[in-house]
This record gives sequence, C-alpha cells and structure tokens, in this order.
Amino acid sequence: MNLAKRLQLIKPSPTLMVTVQVAALRRQGIEVIDFGAGEPDFDTPEHIKEAAIAALRQGKTKYTPVGGTAEVKEAIIAKLQRDNGLTYSLQEVTTNCGGKHTLFNAFHALFGEGDEVLIPAPYWVSYSDMVILTGGQPQLLPTSEETGFKITAAQLQKAIGPQSKALLLNSPSNPTGAAYTENELRQIAEVIERSNLLVISDDVYEKFLYDSSRCAHILTLKPQLRDRVLLVNSVSKTYAMTGWRLGYAAGPREVIVAIETLQSQSTSNPNSIAQAAAVAALTGTQEPVGVMAKEFAKRRNYVVQRLRAIPGISCTLPEGAFYVFPRVAAYFGTKWGEKTISSAMDLSLYLLQEAQVALVAGEGFGSPNHVRISYATSMQILEQGLDQVEAALKRLGRV
Ligand code: PMP
Ligand code: GLU
Repeated sequence: MNLAKRLQLIKPSPTLMVTVQVAALRRQGIEVIDFGAGEPDFDTPEHIKEAAIAALRQGKTKYTPVGGTAEVKEAIIAKLQRDNGLTYSLQEVTTNCGGKHTLFNAFHALFGEGDEVLIPAPYWVSYSDMVILTGGQPQLLPTSEETGFKITAAQLQKAIGPQSKALLLNSPSNPTGAAYTENELRQIAEVIERSNLLVISDDVYEKFLYDSSRCAHILTLKPQLRDRVLLVNSVSKTYAMTGWRLGYAAGPREVIVAIETLQSQSTSNPNSIAQAAAVAALTGTQEPVGVMAKEFAKRRNYVVQRLRAIPGISCTLPEGAFYVFPRVAAYFGTKWGEKTISSAMDLSLYLLQEAQVALVAGEGFGSPNHVRISYATSMQILEQGLDQVEAALKRLGRV
C-alpha cells in the first residue's frame, strides 16, 4: 500500500504502545506490572459519573455545537477564573476530544512549513510528531538533571531564531515531573515578551504538584501575553477521566475559531455525555483531586527513595505529575544472555521480559539515557514492581 508520505515521518505513540504490549501479554496469561500507563489508577469520581448518567437519561445524546455546549464552556471559564485567576469569554474557549486532540488541532491551526516550534526536552512523546505532521519543525531545547530538567530564560533567548513560531510549555512535565517556579517562569515570560513567540501552555498536570500549593501559570505572572498564549488542559488527569476524551483550550479568539473550523471538518463536537460529565467535574467538589494528589505525593517519595537505593540509578525528585524519570545509562554495556544492553529501549525490553515490569524507554521522550516510570498505581504494586526491577538489575550486574 502506498500510504501518504507524511505518515512515513511519524511513529506510533511509544507510551500507548506500552499499554498495547501490556494488554497483549496479559491476554496470554502473563502477569505484568504496568509502570507504563500515563493515567491515574483512580476511578472517575462518583458525582461525575452520576452527571453523565443523568445526561444520558435527559437525552443529551445529540450533536452539540462543534466546540462544545455553552454549559461546558461556562464551566471551563469558571474553572480558569477560580484556579488560575484568568478571565475568558465564551468565544475564547473550546472543547475537543481530549487534550491530545486539542494540541493536534492547535498545532494545525498555528503551524506549517518553515515554522520552528521550540520544545524543551525531554518532552512528551506526541509533541514532536504532531509538529512534524503540520509541516513544521521541532526545535529541541535540551535540559538535564543539572538544570532540574528545565530550560533557562537565557537558553530560550539564545534559541529564538527568525523561524521560531512558538514555545511549548508543560509544567509539571511529562515525563520528568519538573515544574517551573514563579521566578523561573517570570524570567521565561520576559524573554517571550521581548520576542514574537507564541506559547502553548499544556497544563494537564497542574493539579499534581507536591511541594508547593499552586502551580505558577505564565499568564497569571505576565497577563500582557494574553494575545500570544494558548492554554491547553483536559479533564483526563485531574479527574481520572482519561477514557472520556475531553480536552479544552482557552486563548485568542482567532485561534479558537480556527480550531473549531478544523474540528467542524473532522470530528465535530466532542462526545456530548463527556461534556456533561466535564461540567460536573469542573464545577463540582474538587475534593477527589486533593485526595489523588496526596496519594501521588506519598508514592512519589517512596519510588524515588527505592530507585535511589539501586546501584547505578540516579533520580531527581519530580515536583509534579505522576512520573519519575531515572537515569539508567550505567546499565548500558551489561549482558543479557548473548545480547548486550546498549540503550534504554533494550533495558525496557529486558525489564519487561525478565522482571515482568513495563515502563517506557526514554528514547520516545528525546532522552535515551532514561526510562519513565509511572507511579499512578497502588503502593502494593509499586512495591512489588520495584522489588522485581531491583532484582533484575542486580542480575545484570554492572559494567
Ligand atoms: N499533554 C501531556 C503532557 C500528556 O501527558 C497527555 C497525555 N496524557 C496529554 C497532553 C493529553 O491527554 P488527554 O488527551 O488524555 O487529555
Ligand atoms: N499521556 C499519557 C502518557 O504519556 C497517555 C498516553 C498518551 O496519550 O501518550 O503515558
């Protein structure tokens, strides 16, 4: 089959591939511990499910306006005011089929041939491929443990060139959990203010921040950037609603209209029941979010402490999200039977087969010396999985 050329430029999402692999192994009766999944292990809170059931019973089963009902848009506006101190109108918000779809639509609305998009690396697996699909060019800004996996204002300043169109901000970050402090973000905002850059602020992990109470937002710190920032968020992580597929954007009206035009020629509105559920999620009690965040904080501390006790592994303490991103390169060069483990991908395969633990290799995040472990799973499973990882790494010995 002669597929479209652009399909040769991208690969399947490595994070979703791990989920597929785990499901296939489990179907074969193999017990696998899943540290791959980038989704809360908690169930969607009851009051949200009830709202969805009520919506079904009320016959809210029809098409809605392309960008979502006025109710869901109002709920988003209320959330942005309450949580972020940001004021938006109905014309400045839209909903899509998950945050990933929001980003996809936004990238297609904004980027094209010749545009460079600045992406701090390590980055979430889909950013670069999505940019490539638009014809644009990802421009990676490398970070490391030494910089807390964060870019600096000076680094950004240096990276901005004549083709630079936008900066992607994701704080807290997937996969590193790094989160910018107000001060760091303010300095970055100042560089942006002096440039023509647009900003896409992917806030999907904003509620999972463990050492400070509130996630700094670039727009709260620098309201003057309002015309150049597109805020992207989703109910997936905050409310344990990954399967419902409801993401949203807030930003300049022109961009929102473009996103809705694209959506009107592709998916139409996001699922009507998910929209009703999102209203309950965004406007109802926020208590379940706090419960999840508290539990994630406990798990983060446990996982980091366990990993740091394994010879050859180093691990920063992530400020947020539900991932740790340990450096595993000390194991490169070790022998697995006849084979030599020479990459994070090899090590992940080894751990899947020999420890029955699934995690995501760093290559897909632009960071080949690391692996990503999701701690969005119970303490008991974390304990068991880390025991298995530790034993399997011990068997490998070290070079
Ligand atoms: N942004 C980041 C950084 C993510 O990790 C994800 C994946 N969970 C998304 C956006 C999209 O999530 P969803 O499509 O489920 O809203
Ligand atoms: N974003 C989550 C992850 O990084 C879910 C999978 C995906 O959409 O990539 O694992």
